[in-house]
Amino acid sequence: MAAILLEGKPVAEKIREALLAEISALMAGSGKKAKLVAIEIGENAASAVYVKNQKKAAETLGIEYELKALPADVPQGKAEDIIKELNADDSVTAIILQFPVPKSINANKLINKISPEKDAEGVHPRNMGNILSGNYRIGPCTAMAVMELLRSSGVDLYGKEAVVVGHSDIVGKPLALMLLNKFVTTCVCHIATGERGNLSEHVKRAELLIVAVGKAGLIKGEWIREGAIVIDVGINRVGEKLVGDVEFDKAAKAASMITPVPGGVGPLTTTMLMRNVVELFKNQHSE
Ligand code: NAD
Repeated sequence: MAAILLEGKPVAEKIREALLAEISALMAGSGKKAKLVAIEIGENAASAVYVKNQKKAAETLGIEYELKALPADVPQGKAEDIIKELNADDSVTAIILQFPVPKSINANKLINKISPEKDAEGVHPRNMGNILSGNYRIGPCTAMAVMELLRSSGVDLYGKEAVVVGHSDIVGKPLALMLLNKFVTTCVCHIATGERGNLSEHVKRAELLIVAVGKAGLIKGEWIREGAIVIDVGINRVGEKLVGDVEFDKAAKAASMITPVPGGVGPLTTTMLMRNVVELFKNQHSE
């Protein structure tokens, strides 16, 4: 069976078109301008790429983008004060903390200081809590990107047997809740599943497999169930190439749908960030 490729770019383009129309009307109606502020602590090559992509995505939507680059040795208290100032600044719609942060910084504490009304990444505990109840418009961008890719694929999720590999706060955990909200039978695997040697057993059962670990080749092609939908969130550099966590060529032979890496979930993530910003702007300026 030749698997259908689930590509993020065309989905992202459609959403951005709709977002442009929406944010333009919201800004014209309110007479206010949307602004996203990114906080970067220390210098990092990966973070520099994200910042560049975010700036471009924001500006194509007419959203102002400001980067606050703080030195790697900035004290925790100073970084928290900057967030407090941004929370209080009416010209700021949304705030994002870039990762990774230096070891000296307690990232969770910083995230908790961002006002949930300005939480561009949807990672504040209040926004995460809303996912639990199924009543959310803002959410962690990567998890939202996976859900959007599934929605656009037209797959009927109801009752599907899903396995999520990886239980991070930004991908695996919120995704598991989002799937549960759609009545997907959801199993979450993590490092301990791998250590007990039970990973293949779970993966083989998956009609929907979502992998977000960060280990190239972790998921063997022969583990993929015939006809499965495979979403590979992992991004790993192997030599000059970027690859996911799933052995793509072998997996694509068994799967009915599969994401390429790069080109699957990745292109949608920044778009989901922009969707969060538009949503925050709407909440802040609706009567
Ligand atoms: P993380 O390091 O926070 O979490 C990794 C997860 O994998 C943990 O739950 C851990 O328990 C699990 N794990 C580790 N080894 C395992 C094993 N042998 N078997 C089973 N589970 C195992 O990672 P993250 O921030 O969630 O990112 C995961 C991957 O997704 C990375 O490759 C990252 O680059 C990628 N990512 C991609 C995007 C995107 O836009 N496409 C966005 C965010 C992250």
